[in-house]
Amino acid sequence: MLHVAYIGSALGLLGWMWRSNRRLRDMTRLYRQAQPGLQVTAAAFSSQVGLIVTDEQTRIVRANQAFCDMLGYVEAQLIGLSTGQLRGASVPQGEIRELWNALQARGRWQGDLVCRHGAGHDLACQVTITAIRSDEFGLSGYVGSFVDMSEQKKTETEIRQLAFYDTLTELPNRRLFLERLQGAVASSLHGQTLGALMFIDLDHFKILNDTHGHLVGDQLLQHIAQRLNALVGGEALAARLGGDEFVVMLTDLEFNESTAMARALTLARGVQAAILLPYHLSTLGDQSEAQHTLRYSCSASIGVTLFGLQAEAVTEVLKRADVAMYQSKHSGRNAIRQYDPAAQRVLNEQAMLTADLNQALDEGQLFLHYQLQTNAQGRAVGAECLLRWQHPVRGLVSPVDFIALAEDSGAILPIGSWVLSSACATLAAWARHPGFSALSLSVNVSPRQFAEDDFVARVQQALQASGASAELLTLEITEGIVLQNADQVIAKMHQLRALGVGFSIDDFGTGYSSLSYLQRLPLREVKIDKAFVNDLTHNLGSQAIVRAIIALSASMALTVVSEGVETEAQKDQLLAMGCHLLQGFLIARPMPLQALEALLHASGTLLGGDLAA
Ligand code: C2E
Ligand code: MG
Ligand code: MG
Repeated sequence: MLHVAYIGSALGLLGWMWRSNRRLRDMTRLYRQAQPGLQVTAAAFSSQVGLIVTDEQTRIVRANQAFCDMLGYVEAQLIGLSTGQLRGASVPQGEIRELWNALQARGRWQGDLVCRHGAGHDLACQVTITAIRSDEFGLSGYVGSFVDMSEQKKTETEIRQLAFYDTLTELPNRRLFLERLQGAVASSLHGQTLGALMFIDLDHFKILNDTHGHLVGDQLLQHIAQRLNALVGGEALAARLGGDEFVVMLTDLEFNESTAMARALTLARGVQAAILLPYHLSTLGDQSEAQHTLRYSCSASIGVTLFGLQAEAVTEVLKRADVAMYQSKHSGRNAIRQYDPAAQRVLNEQAMLTADLNQALDEGQLFLHYQLQTNAQGRAVGAECLLRWQHPVRGLVSPVDFIALAEDSGAILPIGSWVLSSACATLAAWARHPGFSALSLSVNVSPRQFAEDDFVARVQQALQASGASAELLTLEITEGIVLQNADQVIAKMHQLRALGVGFSIDDFGTGYSSLSYLQRLPLREVKIDKAFVNDLTHNLGSQAIVRAIIALSASMALTVVSEGVETEAQKDQLLAMGCHLLQGFLIARPMPLQALEALLHASGTLLGGDLAA
């Protein structure tokens, strides 16, 4: 800073000279002394650092080119201006006071200041101000050096943006959110207020991504982020945790559980309604590549919990909101649920069951039940294989309780293969029995299993290894399978169909029932869901649906099976409507293979009398 002191002393003294003729003699002496310094000054003044010299009242008497360029002025515009006029409006008064205190005490201040650019915008600068003082004349002015920090600040902001904000939606990311949540939990406890955390998970987001691609999915996430921001504004913090998971945090709520929860639920209902409004997303056409707009509707499952009631880790708060969100999903989606400890117990149970399930197959705890299917004449045509789990402690566990878990954990892959091999082994054994050789078997295939690259090869291998006839094997799939990556699914179905394997759409009518897809699938049969069968005799709506399904199937030459047939009335009505095959407790309950074979043997009619022998 030696040169800065030189500039200061030299130019400050020049300014002073103009004003006080009385000291002219002294000045001349001093000027002579300063001559070598002035040469250094000239060099220093042409440096890249912005420099100004002011009088003792901070009016600018000189500014170098770098300073003029930095702040967008020519020197003549700056001369006579007070430095205060170049200060950014956002600089707090406290900071200015500190600056003056330092200058008075130490003659020097260094720090960051926001300056006002000639074009009107703010400019972040690193500034050093030195007072020009001599024993002889006291304070005669100041020298300021300015370094433009805007690029560095921009980079810092970008780094912060990358580290703490989600690049897609520009919302705070998980890291920043957890930091804020931590602060909020601590200040709630300290300040005797409550906070609320809302966990938001979009419903069926995967289907949008799978059917229209990630770019379309990304647009939806951006829209959601904008809506959340617009809705919660400064009142709450919205963040994206990742994927289709968002959170909203409310703080400073009254220390009263029910009031705080009521406030959080009101906001949650606002979020739910905002998400439900339609979206217009741009998509690329299949072949034409022409862009068109997809009108899309989306709902969310929302879980809400309070914090600040006790000291706890942020992970606990987040887990509670997550559990509540799962409760919303389980209640049928597009719902809001408060955290409920009972729901937490269910999740813990499921985690334990999942762990047990991984061993079930190896431990021989899984087996199959077979449920008979008959035609309109009451003859047996085949059976559906239904999985059973004999848990060593819990007893018999229903597939309703464990298939979804097996899907999530991936255990469905070895289990599904085993079901397939077992069914093929049964078909092969039946082929050697004259009474049973025409009976078919239906096997349920879960989406995860079907999505495996080697699924077709696995089916082929199960058929070859057992020697079972592919024509007698029917794979039951649900409509959801088709919605995920339709083209690939349909291609796989055609490969299997070419082997002779048949397909049935299970639980038909409960899913998306997209008729355009249905037409593209190489199906053999449609299975009417038992919910419609159950209502058939007293619900006109169910009757209309069943009638429509049967008509549709007839037009596509598909076999119609009704499942869940429990009464004679249902059976009669279904057959009268044109349903081909029946399955349900009325015909036979699901039972072990030997029991089914014994039933077929014993019955006079099921196998058409003489064949049963
Ligand atoms: P699903 O394929 O729709 O099977 C029909 C379900 O209805 C079976 O339940 C069966 O026991 C039940 N059921 C049959 N007749 C009646 C009736 O008259 N009334 C009533 N109320 N119910 C009846 P289950 O065995 O509990 O299986 C439930 C679901 O678990 C199956 O539904 C299927 O989606 C799945 N599942 C079963 N076995 C397998 C399997 O091996 N693999 C896969 N991926 N899923 C399976
Ligand atoms: Mg089924
Ligand atoms: Mg079904």
